[in-house]
Amino acid sequence: MICPRCNQGEIFKVLINKLQAETFLCDECDAMWFKVIDIGNALFVDFGTYMISKGLSPTWNEIIVVNNSI
Ligand SMILES: [Zn+2]
Repeated sequence: MICPRCNQGEIFKVLINKLQAETFLCDECDAMWFKVIDIGNALFVDFGTYMISKGLSPTWNEIIVVNNSI
């Protein structure tokens, strides 16, 4: 799925390791959604801002790509 925010990146289903939370993240603009149905419909969360708010580093080192063909 192409990201509806930037129209460039791909949306990946990712696991935030330390939170054990699955989210959907754009590899280009770092827009993030919590449910697949929200992508393009609900407001995105900025990945970096979210990670910092949880006390984590805002890098892809903290996540595992679960599925790259959303
Ligand atoms: Zn994007």
